[in-house]
Amino acid sequence: MSERRKVVIIGGGFGGLSAAQRLNSSLVDVTLIDRRNYHLFQPLLYQVATSVLSPGQIGSPIRGIIGRNPNTTVILGEVTGVDKDKRCVFVSSADRENVPLGYDFLILATGVTHSYFGHNEFAEFAPGLKSLADAVAIRNKILQAFEQAEAEEDPTRHRDRAPRRLPTGARTPTAPRAGRGPAHRLTPCAYGLQARRSDERAIWATWARASG
Ligand SMILES: Cc1cc2nc3c(=O)[nH]c(=O)nc-3n(C[C@H](O)[C@H](O)[C@H](O)COP(=O)(O)OP(=O)(O)OC[C@H]3O[C@@H](n4cnc5c(N)ncnc54)[C@H](O)[C@@H]3O)c2cc1C
Repeated sequence: MSERRKVVIIGGGFGGLSAAQRLNSSLVDVTLIDRRNYHLFQPLLYQVATSVLSPGQIGSPIRGIIGRNPNTTVILGEVTGVDKDKRCVFVSSADRENVPLGYDFLILATGVTHSYFGHNEFAEFAPGLKSLADAVAIRNKILQAFEQAEAEEDPTRHRDRAPRRLPTGARTPTAPRAGRGPAHRLTPCAYGLQARRSDERAIWATWARASG
């Protein structure tokens, strides 16, 4: 009988989970490592940022999704390095640092981070939206602005106080419209970054033109 091969997957996002599910066979042993013990459904981050959903509604325990696969082990930890020659990754967790974990096959599914294309000064005005912490921070900022507007005694200043920018990323899902191309449309902030303009009116004008 041949020795069972070890597959290590780094990342429990869409990519990592999909790989683990497809490897649900008795031929290999799978170890999935993620720095979070939950899978985050990123496309719904906007809804958390705008208080439509709560954080718990878009995070599912990774073990609840693939934990029943008999050949799969889920480890909570941060992968800090890979030694290709020795075929091992190094994992740090709350009480251990850089523990080596051997593999025969390695799947890197660590996702991406946002980029300001060399203009990190945009971050203050267009914060990233990749994690639950990002979404909650944006949500709190929006709610705080509405609270301040509510408490403003001069009604003519309400419009100045209320938030006017949309919390959004490069693309948001919208219902596909017949004959109007793919089911995604660029949104104001994305066009604002592309145009490299901070002028809100220009951003909205660009968006209006692009949206037809
Ligand atoms: C706000 C938003 C809206 C989106 N909307 C859509 C949409 O409508 N339609 C669409 O198709 N796509 C959408 N996307 C894109 C989609 O969510 C991503 O393409 C997808 O999540 C990428 O999956 P992934 O597995 O590659 O990475 P991720 O889902 O980012 O998963 C990477 C995982 O790796 C883990 N990880 C990273 N580094 C390490 C490390 N060193 N050690 C341990 N673990 C690590 C992370 O914790 C994470 O769980 C959206 C993304 C965002 C942010």
